[in-house]
Amino acid sequence: MPLCIHTITTKPWSLEETMEHYPKAGVEGISVWTDALEGRDAGVAGRQLREAGLDIVSLVRGGFFPAATPTGRQKAIDDNLRLLDQAAELGAPLIVLVCGAVPGQPLPVSRQQIADGIEAILPTAEKLGVRLGIEPLHPMYADDRSAITSLAQANDICQLLNSPNLGATLDVYHLWWDPDLEREITRCGNNGHIFSFHVCDWKTPTTDLLNDRGLMGEGCIDIQGIRSQVQAAGFDGFTEVEIFSNHYWAMDQEVFLKKIVDAYHRHT
Ligand code: ZN
Repeated sequence: MPLCIHTITTKPWSLEETMEHYPKAGVEGISVWTDALEGRDAGVAGRQLREAGLDIVSLVRGGFFPAATPTGRQKAIDDNLRLLDQAAELGAPLIVLVCGAVPGQPLPVSRQQIADGIEAILPTAEKLGVRLGIEPLHPMYADDRSAITSLAQANDICQLLNSPNLGATLDVYHLWWDPDLEREITRCGNNGHIFSFHVCDWKTPTTDLLNDRGLMGEGCIDIQGIRSQVQAAGFDGFTEVEIFSNHYWAMDQEVFLKKIVDAYHRHT
């Protein structure tokens, strides 16, 4: 599976610097975070990335559908519709959805609001030819980032809404602990719903619940085992390296990029 890197992984670099450095290192794909597009025309940025030899794999990230009020939920839908336009301009075939949650609101309520929100934007996604990947997050983020905490829940929503433009984004950091993972990967693949695959590693101890993710091989996740299951389920797209790390962001990003490419070859 070819290598893709998320712009957030090399956060200190501008989009222009990623275009310069990724292809030289043998990176074939890029997933673009919206902050990397700030102040830029998405159409121009997309052309520049393709001219640099990079495949745009996804735009990250939409979602955050649950809200305490109807006005808040409508605002989330409007934000996601704007993001769909931006993805189409950029030429990104996929938007990754971090689905959202409201602290104190029961998770089943948030899950219903997520399904309703996705249903509201799906016709536009279909019209624009942009796919939506529900990314289940690790349960430690269930308070305010995602009420979708397992691949089973993502599979359920995909089957419920039943659109060729709706599938799942599988991230080993969020899913590795799940005893039902292999079964759910097979189910997701059989339904044609595996849209993308993210990797990093889980460090012990983890010193920060958001920004201390490890390079592949640095932690306890059986990345190669999960990658094999994802491939056996029929997915042959990019392996996307998505690492939030204060440690690595502080490093010379050219040195870090070499480490990423090396870890990709040895541990994915
Ligand atoms: Zn991810």
